[in-house]
Amino acid sequence: MQDKKLKCKVCGTEFDFTKGQQEFFTEHNLSEPKKCKTCKEKEKQEKSKNNTYQKVA
Ligand SMILES: [Zn+2]
Repeated sequence: MQDKKLKCKVCGTEFDFTKGQQEFFTEHNLSEPKKCKTCKEKEKQEKSKNNTYQKVA
């Protein structure tokens, strides 16, 4: 196994899918990541924002 370059589905940026990550994903039977770190972080923030809104409402 070697480091792989994946393309983010959202912003189109290429990001590294390292050997270590690949091993982790294989071990846990996960499919390859589709989003770069930046987009994932953004998504997380959006989600936590939504959660806050739900709590308020
Ligand atoms: Zn992205």
